[in-house]
Amino acid sequence: MASEKKQPDSSSAPAQVPLPAPLSDLKIQYTKIFINNEWHDSVSGKKFPVLNPATGEKICEVEEGDKEDVDKAVKAARKAFELGSRWRTMDASERGKLLNKLADLIERDRLLLASMESINAGKLFSNAYLMDLGGCINPLRYCAGWADKIHGRTIPMDGNYFTYTRHEPVGVCGQIIPWNFPLVMFIWKIAPALCCGNTVVVKPAEQTPLTAIHMGSLIIEAGFPPGVVNIVPGYGPTAGAAISNHMDIDKVAFTGSTEVGKKIKEAAGRSNLKRVTLELGGKSPNIIFADADMNCAVEYAHIGLFYHQGQCCIAGSRIFVEEPIYDEFVRRSVERAKKIVVGNPLTAGVHQGPQIDKEQYDKILAMIESGKKEGAKLHCGGGPWGDKGFFIQPTVFSDVTDDMLIAKEEIFGPVQMIMKFKTIDEVIKRANNTPYGLAAAVFTKDIDKALTFTSALQAGTVWVNCYSAMSAQCPFGGFKMSGNGRELGEYGLHEYTEVKTVTIKIPQKNS
Ligand code: NAP
Ligand code: MG
Repeated sequence: MASEKKQPDSSSAPAQVPLPAPLSDLKIQYTKIFINNEWHDSVSGKKFPVLNPATGEKICEVEEGDKEDVDKAVKAARKAFELGSRWRTMDASERGKLLNKLADLIERDRLLLASMESINAGKLFSNAYLMDLGGCINPLRYCAGWADKIHGRTIPMDGNYFTYTRHEPVGVCGQIIPWNFPLVMFIWKIAPALCCGNTVVVKPAEQTPLTAIHMGSLIIEAGFPPGVVNIVPGYGPTAGAAISNHMDIDKVAFTGSTEVGKKIKEAAGRSNLKRVTLELGGKSPNIIFADADMNCAVEYAHIGLFYHQGQCCIAGSRIFVEEPIYDEFVRRSVERAKKIVVGNPLTAGVHQGPQIDKEQYDKILAMIESGKKEGAKLHCGGGPWGDKGFFIQPTVFSDVTDDMLIAKEEIFGPVQMIMKFKTIDEVIKRANNTPYGLAAAVFTKDIDKALTFTSALQAGTVWVNCYSAMSAQCPFGGFKMSGNGRELGEYGLHEYTEVKTVTIKIPQKNS
């Protein structure tokens, strides 16, 4: 087996960004609801605790938004969207400048935001600083560049008419985001919406509201008019449901579980048929052929699963390995997993931090137990780690079969499972035999095989000889139950405009 000297680089972080130490004296300055560029207490007077998943200890309390707070935020967003408002009459190029200014402020506060994200989301500080913050700044600047380049067409309509299309903002957009990439998801939602001239009401995840709330202060500083961005921290069934059921919200964008995605779509249907885009879960196949570069495939399969404690929607959680290299691949994957250093995500040299909360921790441990019971072979890990916080040992299973629970359901934890295949037809069928369709990958040196798989795999993103490579220019989203619509790239902008056809009668000389 040939091996490449170069290690695979699954990061899209600029290599030249130096990594500072995390802030040791982080103060949480903002904990309130953000409406109309002002800080509000919750109408109910309630607050909720925000925890550090590495210790289980409380970081602070945050105002708990509910239906009444969402109503206030929607009113502000509607007012900001009124015809003739400052936002609606602002030059498109000015909107671009505001987005670029916001990106400048995030760059300025990069250390603070990365430290906050690391403490609140249990994210490795290095990943938060390099990957997540990069994953915010780049899409913001990408959208900033688009703001004055979104235009319609002139159309050669039959008859004596002049017809053109206008790409108008949809209106007030509700945006509900998850806890695994709190700030990245915040930016992926607001950047295209604002670029196209919409106003937004954002609900961060209950576990991770801190960086989103901090963004409120940067929204003011950047100079966005009041009401354009509103941020309502709170719980899903209350504040989240108030958004998806709202009669005066024109569109809802959601990232999270497929189960809640279904509820969002139902609520949209029952209320005002608001537009819905969904980015949901996955059970992504990663197919390794015997002719693949083994080092490269082992490393990408490792990163593609263990990155951020396995809490990624794109996690390559069904690894299919061709029979002749199966045993060797398992051996090397186990060796690689055993090198993971688990610990405090703020500490340099640590590779794996805690899971987000007790609920996820319990769910993952139960899935591991089901793997053991159903007869998968456990090579390492298989239980909790440490005596505080929500840590789980890096776990590798082999001899996993398609009927096992761990091969069917999203685990969202540091649990790698490796399956065996013999033929191309077999593995295509098995890879597609899932209700999900978010991502997929194939490792081979044979261009014909690679091309066969890029067309056969039912997934919104297919990687060849790499994994997790993403960037602001590339559309991202799912086939099947992994979602509706696309985020990022030019395709992502289409989700935030309505197309209006304007037809004007041309007066004829002799009529
Ligand atoms: P989740 O419930 O789907 O959370 C995502 C967002 O939806 C959160 O802001 C949540 O609020 C909100 N929400 C919950 N119920 C809602 C409702 N009825 N109406 C409107 N909004 C609602 O995800 P989770 O419970 O935190 O995690 C469970 C599983 O979801 C994970 O194990 C994983 O499989 C999947 N997940 C996927 C992604 C992804 O990137 N695709 C991200 C996170 C989780 P709360 O914060 O109050 O729940
Ligand atoms: Mg939840």
